[in-house]
Formats: sequence, C-alpha cells, structure tokens
Amino acid sequence: MENLVKMQKDYFNSKDNLLKIDIQYRISLLKNLKKIIEKYEEDIKIAIKLDLGRDFTSTYYAEISSLLFELKYIIKNLKKWTKTRKKPVPIMYLGYKSKIKYSPYGNVLIISPWNYPFLLSLSPLIGAISAGNCVILKPSEHSPKTSEVLAKIISEAFPKQIVEVVLGDYNKVTELINLKMDYIFFTGSTYVGQIIMENAAKYLTPVSLELGGKSPCVFEKSANLQIGVKRIAWGKTLNAGQTCIAPDYLIIEEEILEDFILNFKKYTKEFYTEEPIKCENYQPILNQKHFDRTINYLENQNIIFGGKYDKNTLKVEPTLILNPSFESPVMQEELFSPILPIITYKNKNEIYQIIEKNPNPLALYIFSKNKSFQNELINNISFGGCTINSTIFHTVNNYIPFGGVGKSGIGGYHGEYSFETFSHKKAIFKGTFNKDNKVKYPPYKYSEKVIKVIKLLLK
Ligand code: NAD
Repeated sequence: MENLVKMQKDYFNSKDNLLKIDIQYRISLLKNLKKIIEKYEEDIKIAIKLDLGRDFTSTYYAEISSLLFELKYIIKNLKKWTKTRKKPVPIMYLGYKSKIKYSPYGNVLIISPWNYPFLLSLSPLIGAISAGNCVILKPSEHSPKTSEVLAKIISEAFPKQIVEVVLGDYNKVTELINLKMDYIFFTGSTYVGQIIMENAAKYLTPVSLELGGKSPCVFEKSANLQIGVKRIAWGKTLNAGQTCIAPDYLIIEEEILEDFILNFKKYTKEFYTEEPIKCENYQPILNQKHFDRTINYLENQNIIFGGKYDKNTLKVEPTLILNPSFESPVMQEELFSPILPIITYKNKNEIYQIIEKNPNPLALYIFSKNKSFQNELINNISFGGCTINSTIFHTVNNYIPFGGVGKSGIGGYHGEYSFETFSHKKAIFKGTFNKDNKVKYPPYKYSEKVIKVIKLLLK
C-alpha cells in the first residue's frame, strides 16, 4: 500500500504528469474508459447478478447507462469547465486582475458501497480524473465479483500511477487514510462516514461524505394517484429497496390511504407477479445479516400488505406497515429493504413533526399538483435533493448536484459538480508595477480623505 501511494504521489508531483496540465490527455483517458466499459457490459451485468441477484435490465438502466451518459457529458464539456475563469476586482484596485484556476488536489481515495457497486465506484472516479487527480479506488468487500470486474476495467483503462483498485475490507481504508491522501470521497453508511471523517481530520484531509438515512415520501390528495403510486412502488422495490434514496417511509393524507394501498398492490403484482418471492426478476436482500435485520422490522407491526419472505432465497415481499410507533426500529433506522411504513396525516403541520424525528434526509419526495404545497415543504425541510411527483430521478440528472446535508452527508457531485468537488480553486490576484498607490502605506498621511472616499463607496 505504501509503495502504491508513493508511486502515485511521485507521478502526481513529477514534471511528466500530463494529467495535471493536459486536458486533452484527461479526455482521451475518459474516452478510452468509456470504450472499455462498453466492452465489458456483459461481465458487469453478470457480476452484479452474482453479487446482488439483480436482473440485467435494471443493472443496465441504473448503473451502466447512467454512468455512460455522465461520461459522455463530462467528455463533451470538460474543456469549457477547466478554463481559468476571469473575475472582477473591487473598484479600489482598478488596473489589477483576478482569476480562478481549477487545480487537482493530488491523490484521491474513493471508497464505495455494495448496493450500486459499479456506478458508485466509477461516477466519483470519472469526476476525480476529469479534475486531474490520481485515484485509489477501494470498492466494497460485499460485492466481490463486481470489484473483480472493476479491477480488470481499471487496469485496462489507466496506468497504475494514475488509477489503481485496492481490494479488501475496512483495514485497507484505515491504512490508506493514514498514508495521507489529498482528498477522500466516501459513499456508505452514516456510521462509517463518521469514522472516515474522524480519521481524515488527523491529517486535515478534505472529505466528501455521501451517506444514507430515512428519506420521506409525502403524498397529498391532489396528486395523480395511479401514476404516483406506481412510481413509489418502483422506487421502493428497485434493488429490493437497497437504494440510498429509496422512499423510506410514506406520509399520506388520511382520506386517500385506501386508494394508495389498492394501487400499491396492483402495481407490485404487475411488476413482480402475485408471488414476488417466487419471481425471478424480484431481487433478494444482499446477505443473511441484512435479511435478518429486515425480518426484524416486521415484528409486532400492523402489516397490511405483503410480509412474506423466503429464508432460502433471502427474498422479502414488498410490504406495507400501517402507522408504526416512532419508537420502533422501523421508524428509527434506514430500512434499506422493500418495506414501506405508512403514516397518515390530517393536518399539514403533522408532516413537519414526523420528518423532524429523522432530520436532514438524503432525499425528499413530494407527490402533489399544488405548487404552494410543494414550495412550502421545499422551503421548510432540510434535505439533500428532491424529486417532485416521482422517485429517484433527481440523482440521474447530471445538471444538478447530488448529495446530502447534515446527517445525510457533506458535499455534492455529478457532472460539473464532480469536477468542482475534486478541484481546488486557486484564487489569483495579479498586481501591476505601473501604479503604486501611496495611500495604503503607513503613516497613513492621507487617511482622512481616503476614509471619506471609502465611506462614500460603501453607501
Ligand atoms: P458501509 O458504510 O458499511 O461501507 C461502505 C464502504 O466503507 C465499504 O467499502 C467498506 O469496506 C468501508 N468500510 C466499512 N467499515 C469501515 C470502517 N470502519 N472504516 C473504514 N472503512 C469502512 O456501507 P454499505 O453497507 O456498503 O452501503 C450501504 C450504506 O451506504 C447505506 O447507509 C446507504 O444509504 C449508503 N449509501 C449512500 C449513497 C449516497 O450516494 N449517498 C449511495 C449508496 C449507499
């Protein structure tokens, strides 16, 4: 590990580092990566099927095509983003010049989770490369087949001194952080995110933390019930609910509850047949540990739909729980499973009280045709990102940043926001020898007049 970090640091600091100075070189690396990903499309789908049991089409939509779209977007726009940006100077400094130069941090450590193991490894990675950094990628030990394919793709696409994959568990992460990386980009649980930040603080290494949490979904009666429920059923069961921005729980206006339940039944049946746990395209929970955690949520709850599971295949039916206690684990923990607790409301103010119990969600979903209702929630709730009248989609739009706030994370990325995240903005102020204004020097002979002018300018 020490040799690897040294090799990358030496390369980054060397005069031959094309990555740092030549934008065309970065673009050629990204173009080459795109080709190699396309070559390994089948291998990626097979590996994710073996790791997570996910069907090929979902993997293509959720991980491969979205990454390729982001790559295409970055390749097309990188030249524009990397340009040094001229900035104005205050009026007192007329004749001087100012600019911002985007510079890579150096050596970046990317730590990724298992739930979208391909996308969440390579999406930050292409951002780091676009900004000119060297990268060490540490994918999750819980998606080992995908990690193998990632290692193969990376070794074909990049020289080791620019990108290398390190396989293993959390010990590797600790070791790498202690080798003083220049930037750490972590995606995973809030608990581990805290450990990462604590360790990084020892070296003042800057971090991005893309964490999880309980993302609420608010459903108001003006919304289109059929389409709205269909989109929630999809977002909740995609990847068997093991999605950081899956709608975690539903807050619904009491009078439309019955219709919601009827439609949820209808659509989950349409997606995964009458018996989802026997449906081939319905995904299992990752492993025994997460399966046991999921089953525990069902204990002593008012299950109004679903609730069946299969210990052998680790599949759990899409399940609705009505009005659980806020003290129960189902309302205290991130569910990361196809279980949807439902809480009904009569009065709008109740929505805030419910969400305040799990503040700063990563995502907020609002189903409503009422613009003032939408705006009121957006203005009054602290959340990472929001999709109105659908689920998941704010994360696939590369024109807006994706990230959390407070407990759900620090920093955002995707598209140009990734380039910004992985760049240090060097602020440059250029003086001129043509003028040398005496007024700033002691003993401040002209101070009375100067202060008058300053006060005038301040008006
Ligand atoms: P995790 O936090 O257990 O692990 C993530 C990564 O951290 C893995 O590579 C793992 O090896 C490493 N790790 C684990 N323990 C560590 C430690 N003590 N020290 C250093 N590194 C350690 O998360 P997970 O189970 O892989 O993923 C699920 C979590 O990730 C959920 O909470 C989910 O919401 C969150 N998530 C967030 C996003 C996002 O974009 N915000 C995306 C996907 C998942």
